Amino acid sequence: MSFENSIQLYERARRVIPGGISSSMRAFQKPVPLFIDRGAGSHLYDVDGNEYIDYALAHGPLILGHCHPGIVAAVEKQIRRGSTFGCQQELEAAVAEKILGVLPWAEQIVFSNTGTEAVQAALRLARAATGRNLIVKFEGHYHGWADSVLIGHRHGRAIDGPSRAVELLGGEGQSPSVLQDILVVPWNDESILQRTFDEFGDEVAAVIAEPMQCNTASILPKAGFLQQLRKLTERHRSVLIFDEVITGFRLAPGGASECFGVNPDLAVFAKAVAGGYPLSAVAGIHSVFSSIRTRRVRHLGTFNGNPIALAAAAATLQVLFDPAEEVYPRMRRLGARLYEGLQALSTAELPILIQGLPTCFHILFTDQKRIGNYSDYLAYDMSRTQLWLESALLEGIFQMGDGRWYLSGAHTDDDISLTLGKAERSLKRLASHPAIWQMAAS
Ligand code: PMP
Repeated sequence: MSFENSIQLYERARRVIPGGISSSMRAFQKPVPLFIDRGAGSHLYDVDGNEYIDYALAHGPLILGHCHPGIVAAVEKQIRRGSTFGCQQELEAAVAEKILGVLPWAEQIVFSNTGTEAVQAALRLARAATGRNLIVKFEGHYHGWADSVLIGHRHGRAIDGPSRAVELLGGEGQSPSVLQDILVVPWNDESILQRTFDEFGDEVAAVIAEPMQCNTASILPKAGFLQQLRKLTERHRSVLIFDEVITGFRLAPGGASECFGVNPDLAVFAKAVAGGYPLSAVAGIHSVFSSIRTRRVRHLGTFNGNPIALAAAAATLQVLFDPAEEVYPRMRRLGARLYEGLQALSTAELPILIQGLPTCFHILFTDQKRIGNYSDYLAYDMSRTQLWLESALLEGIFQMGDGRWYLSGAHTDDDISLTLGKAERSLKRLASHPAIWQMAAS
């Protein structure tokens, strides 16, 4: 495989764009951050003509794959009618109705463009509804890159109680003052959660959680943990926010709340909702939105409710919610085949742990039986994953930079068979890589 054209474009980009990339996540790709020519269905083609089976799906949004004909047609139609109006249009209510149709617990919706923006809207709504400032978030969970929440995600040490430690900040340039309004607590730890509410409960405006911790090792909620969260937030009149930016429209039509049977007060959606176009939404119960209705809370944005993104969302949701399309049964069946097939490739020299659910899971190189929390994850050696990512890429498998895989409605049985063959070859190559043996010896 040659990457000459990507290398040249990367050199050119580095002269005018810091680091040559437009999102920090893309910096780590080896052998070089790829420059993409086009995508079609479940496949991706780079500027050197290399073809990949795509399990990164642009970090998740492409729930129906690249260039789904229904989405392309809807977007083309809208583009000819106008790209943005800064006024209301029918598509807003139409898409809101469709989404509310699969969220029986929710009553209203507001639209933004990205997950980061929608999280900010949800936190503001929660603070206005409660008159409190304090937000509780979980270690390892990601809620966008805003100062107020890029805290306690892949940074610093593991914590053993509610924490505001300055090392939990995501990086330089974030004001430490945001730590006054946030408490980071470990995921899946009932007793620390209880202790946090015993001590701070009446100050907590909201708890925000990825209902399945997709951003770090795909850690499912322990049995009863989301229920405990629901009970404590109800008892202390705090708002429960599910960040469903990944899980929404992926785990099930109604997302994680449907999958795990626990209803939040607010849920944030982005990524899959518009099948690859920038749209995000906060759905929630009527009372939490009263501050917007009475204009006490300002929810702003030039591109909010953008008609092109909404046209894409309407087309995406039409396919996802049509039982005849069988998108969810197919994604789950193919994901399970892949998940089990990859797990079966585990060997004593190169032990593999697959965690998550069929439509979103991680491949982890460890002989631990389970990575159940952030301390386990910090103990996990990422260097094998780095070698695996490169070795799999050279076979034509494209996955997320932390070994995360997403399924789409465009993947086929042939893709899975091909992928398992490619994965087996990559692992064989990896097992003979001298760096693996050096790591095992150290
Ligand atoms: N929340 C979660 C759970 C996410 O995974 C992400 C993005 N990976 C975000 C929020 C932020 O979304 P965006 O990148 O669209 O701002």
